[in-house]
Amino acid sequence: MGIKENYEKIREEIEKACAKVRRKPEEVKVLAATKTRNLEEIKEAYKAGIRLFGENRVQEAREKIPNLRELQGAQWHMIGHLQRNKVKYAVELFNAIETVDRKSLVEEIEKRLKGKEIEVLIEVKLSFEESKHGCRPEEVKELAEYILERPNLKLKGLMTVPPFYEDAELVRPFFIRLREIKEKLEEELKVKLPELSMGMSHDFKVAVEEGATIVRIGTALFGPRKY
Ligand SMILES: *Cc1c(COP(=O)(O)O)cnc(C)c1O
Repeated sequence: MGIKENYEKIREEIEKACAKVRRKPEEVKVLAATKTRNLEEIKEAYKAGIRLFGENRVQEAREKIPNLRELQGAQWHMIGHLQRNKVKYAVELFNAIETVDRKSLVEEIEKRLKGKEIEVLIEVKLSFEESKHGCRPEEVKELAEYILERPNLKLKGLMTVPPFYEDAELVRPFFIRLREIKEKLEEELKVKLPELSMGMSHDFKVAVEEGATIVRIGTALFGPRKY
C-alpha cells in the first residue's frame, strides 16, 4: 500500500477511536515521524494531506527541512532528545520542540530564540527504561512554571514515549497518566494546555481513546524503517 492509502486507513482508525469515546476526529492531528525517510516520501505524505512532521535528530533535520520549504503550511516538530549544543539549529528549523525536559534546555532555547517565539511541549518520562528521556512526573509542575515565566516559549502541552508493549492495552495506563498530569497542571497553574502528544503506529488507537491530540506515526504510514 502507498502512503496515501496508509494515511486514509489511519484517519479511519482515528475516527473509530473518537466515536468510541465521543471525541471529534478533527481534534487529532497525525504527525508523520520522518526519521530515515527521504524527501520524496515526505512530499508524498504532504500530498496525501499531512501537514505536521517530526524529526528526531537535528543533523538529519538540517539535511531535510531546508529542502522542503516548498511544502506550504507544513509544520515541523522536534520529537527526539535535544542536546544543548544543537538548540541554535533547532530553533531555526522547527515550529515546535516537543522534548523539553529540563531547565537548562529552557534557558538555552530562550537565549537562542533572540526574541522570536516557539511552541514547546514538556516530555514526561513515565517509563522506567533508562534509555527513555523526559522529566519525571513530580518535576513537571516546576518545569512548566519555569517555561511560563518566559513569554517567548509557548507551552502547548505534554508529550511522552511509553515503553513498548506489543499489546497496546498495556500502554493504556501510561496514556491515562499523561492526561491526568496535564489536567492537574491546568488546574494548578490556571493555564490551558491543548496538546497531548502520545501514541505511535502500534498504539495510537488507544492513545486517541485516552485524549491524544497529536499521534506520531512512522511505520504505519511509510512502512518498515530501513537503516
Ligand atoms: C520513530 C518515532 C515515532 C514513530 O514510531 P512508529 O512506531 O514508527 O510509528 C514516534 N515518536 C517518536 C519520538 C519516534 O522517535
